[in-house]
Amino acid sequence: MKTFPMFLQMQGRRVIIAGGGEQAAQKCRLILKTDAAITVLAPSLDPELADLHAQGRIVWQSGPICPTAFEGAALVFVATGCCATDACLHMLAKSAGATVNVVDQPHLCDALTPSIVDRSPVVVAIGTEGTAPVLARQIKTRLEDMLEPRLGDLAAVAGRLRDRAHARLAPRMRRDLWRWVFAGPVRDTHARGGERAAAQMIKQAIDTATFGAETVGSVALVGAGPGAKDLITLRGVQRLQEADVIFYDRLIDPDILDLARRDAERVYVGKAPGCHHWPQEKISGVLVAAALQGKRVVRLKCGDPGVFARGAEEADALKAAGIPLEIVPGVTAASAASASLGGFLTERGTCDTLVLATGQSETVGKSHTWIRTLQPGTRVAVYMGVGSAAAIAKGLVDAGLQDQISIDIVSHAQQNDEVIAKCCASTLVQTIKANAISNPAILFLTWAQAVAREKQVDRVVHLG
Ligand code: SAH
Repeated sequence: MKTFPMFLQMQGRRVIIAGGGEQAAQKCRLILKTDAAITVLAPSLDPELADLHAQGRIVWQSGPICPTAFEGAALVFVATGCCATDACLHMLAKSAGATVNVVDQPHLCDALTPSIVDRSPVVVAIGTEGTAPVLARQIKTRLEDMLEPRLGDLAAVAGRLRDRAHARLAPRMRRDLWRWVFAGPVRDTHARGGERAAAQMIKQAIDTATFGAETVGSVALVGAGPGAKDLITLRGVQRLQEADVIFYDRLIDPDILDLARRDAERVYVGKAPGCHHWPQEKISGVLVAAALQGKRVVRLKCGDPGVFARGAEEADALKAAGIPLEIVPGVTAASAASASLGGFLTERGTCDTLVLATGQSETVGKSHTWIRTLQPGTRVAVYMGVGSAAAIAKGLVDAGLQDQISIDIVSHAQQNDEVIAKCCASTLVQTIKANAISNPAILFLTWAQAVAREKQVDRVVHLG
C-alpha cells in the first residue's frame, strides 16, 4: 500500500479550496457532506459556488493568495483548472505545511480522494492509488446496490442503543445481538421503512435477551416493470436478491428472474394460453404458506403491482394471516408504452387528465363505463383492451366520439417485439388485425384539447 486509508475528523476544521470553477465546485460538494468549515480562494466564483457563498455555507476570499492562507487547514484542495496555477498554489500550500490534493495531478497529491459510498455514518471509501478510477467507480456501483439507502440510519440507531446493550448483555451476547440486527429481520424491517419498528425490535431483544428465533417471514409485492430487464427498480432487484422463493406471472421476462439468487425457488403462477391457471385464492394461499414457513417471499408482477394486478386480494390474505407486506412499485405498462411512442402521458394544455382503464373488468361486456370519462383534454390508457377492441370501438361510435378520439396502440412495449400503430375508432379492429397486434398491448384513447377547440365539439358524451 503506497497510501493509507484513514477517516479524518472534520467537525469544525478548516478546508481550503483554491479555485472558483467547476473543479472547485466538485470538491466543495464533497466536503459539504462533512461538518468542515470551507474557505474558497478565487478571484471569482461560478454560479454554484456564488450561491453557496450567498447562503453562508462557504467563506470566500478573492484577494491575493499567500502561504498564511493555508495555515492550520486540515486539507487543501487545489482545483483552479489551470496546471501552472495549480503548481504554484501547491508550492504555497506545501510551504505552509498543509496536506494537499491537486485535482488530476496525482504526483502533487499528499492525499487522494477515494470513490465514496455514503450511508453516513457508514462510509465506504474505495481507492486504487490513482491506477484505475473506472474500476473504483464499478466497485462503488456494486456497493451502492448492496447497501440499502437507509443502512446508515440503522447503524445510527444501533449506535444509540450500544450503551443499553452494554449495560444488559455479556460481550458474546452483544456480538450475537448485532449480528442478528444487521443480518436478519431488523435490517429488513428498517430497509422497508419501518424505522420505529426496527428500533423497537432491537430494544426488546436487548431487554429480554432473546433474538434470532424468527418464525414468520415476509412478502414483497414487487413490480417487475413492462418486461425489459433494466426497467425494474433497484429496490425490486434488491428484494429479488433477498428472496427465498419467487412467485411470478406470465408476463415476466425470464431475464428478470436471473436477477434473483441462483438458489431461490421460482414458482410460476400465471396463466398460460390454453393451460389451466392458478385461481387467485390459490396464489394468495401459497404466499401465506411460504411466509408462515419463515421464508422471504417475492410476489413478482408485471408493471406496477398496484395497477390491474389483483394486489389488493393478496394483500388482504397476508394481512389476515399477520404477515408483513411490502409493496415495491414498478413501471406500469402505460408509462412504458407512452415512452415508446416518444410522448408523455400528460401534456400541459393538451391532455391534463389521465385515466387508467381495463378492457376486461367484471362489468365489461355490457359497456365500457370509462368511455364516460372522455372529454376534451383526456387520455385513457386501456389495459387488456385488444380482446374487446370491437366493443370499445362500438362504444366510442355509440357515444358519438369517433372523430374526436385518436388511438395509439403499443404492444409488447419496451420489448424486442414491440409494435406501434395509430388509428381511430372506425379502423381500430382492422388496424389490430393488419398489424398482427397481440397481447400484451395498451390502447391510448386521446381527446386532445386542441382538437376539441378546432372542431367546436359538444362536451357532453352520449352513451348508447
Ligand atoms: N400491473 C400491470 C398490468 C397488468 S394487466 C402494469 O402495471 O402494467 C396486463 C395488461 O397490462 C396487458 O394485457 C397489457 O394491457 C398491459 N401490459 C403489460 N405489459 C405490457 C407491455 N410490455 N406492453 C404493453 N402492454 C402491457
